[in-house]
Amino acid sequence: PQLTSLLRDRITPFHTFEFFPPRTEAGLVNLLDRIQRLASAPLPSPLAVSVTWGAGGSTADKSLELAEQVVKLGLEVILHLTCTNMPKEKVDQALERCKSLGVRNILALRGDAPRSEEYSTEPNPQPDYFQHADDLVRYIRNNYNDYFCIGVAGYPTPHPDSESSDKDLEYLKIKCDAGADFIITQLFYDVEGFLDWVRICREKGITQPIIPGIMPIQNFASFRRLVNLTKCPVPEAISSDLIPISSDDSAVKRYGAELATKMVKQVLESKLVPGIHFCTLNLEKSVRTILENLKWTSTSAPSIEKSPLVRHNRLIE
Ligand code: FAD
Repeated sequence: PQLTSLLRDRITPFHTFEFFPPRTEAGLVNLLDRIQRLASAPLPSPLAVSVTWGAGGSTADKSLELAEQVVKLGLEVILHLTCTNMPKEKVDQALERCKSLGVRNILALRGDAPRSEEYSTEPNPQPDYFQHADDLVRYIRNNYNDYFCIGVAGYPTPHPDSESSDKDLEYLKIKCDAGADFIITQLFYDVEGFLDWVRICREKGITQPIIPGIMPIQNFASFRRLVNLTKCPVPEAISSDLIPISSDDSAVKRYGAELATKMVKQVLESKLVPGIHFCTLNLEKSVRTILENLKWTSTSAPSIEKSPLVRHNRLIE
């Protein structure tokens, strides 16, 4: 089913997991075992599993293969799909394949230029059919009607290409108006800043459910790299906790899981979001610890307020 229809009658928070397709067959087998363990009792079952898409379609076959295997595990899939730096035919092929697999959720993304093209001064000989994610949202809506439930990316810290946060929000609204049903956010560590951003989205008339992307800190070097890449602010308290333990990988992992647990509780207490999207980096331990810490079962999870924002979404009325 579509994510929004799964959300319709839900009164407790949900979680989704994000995985990227492994390069090798052995890696795929290991990952599927991990996904199955993470989706089995006593852990609460994920509402959906999202599968990333390499920019330019570089992982098309492997992403679709992972999506197929996840469907076979009996789990819902959200396929990420980028639309630039690759022929339009690849988008069509992916959407048709999703239809044949019964995958009904697409996270519609622009994607980034491959590194080698980033600083190229040569004009692109074949201009992209799609320029931005809103083009892809519109394309899917026009060609597939309501078959797909469409998600888009949201940026609590404006996207690095944006002129301003106002402009970034304007474009997020355009993506939503083009037919998006839900928003998954870029990772963040400043919870108050995130909640303020959600409130601003609502003030701007963005009514789609917003699912916060939570990435547990797994090790200090990768945390630093991601923070630099996304330019997301890190609260002083987190930096000063992390610096003294930065060379102790297991202490960082433990801290990361504790911090993510606190963040999840705090964002859900706000009643502004209906669930959590965990960026797993294909690793099991941290998300398992977080879910164990949260002690969610279908009955003990904190209830979510059925906000009119969710109910007013056109696909779930
Ligand atoms: P857009 O919405 O097109 O925005 C990109 C920039 O252009 C922003 O600055 C925006 O303000 C501006 N903009 C938007 N619309 C317009 C417009 N109509 N006119 C002018 N300017 C506009 N990348 C991958 O390659 N594979 C993945 O699987 C993947 N998964 C992701 C999952 C999540 C939850 C997130 C947050 C990001 C993911 N990305 C992924 C990264 C994403 O592709 C990059 O961040 C990319 O640079 C922007 O994608 P977008 O869909 O947000 O683009």
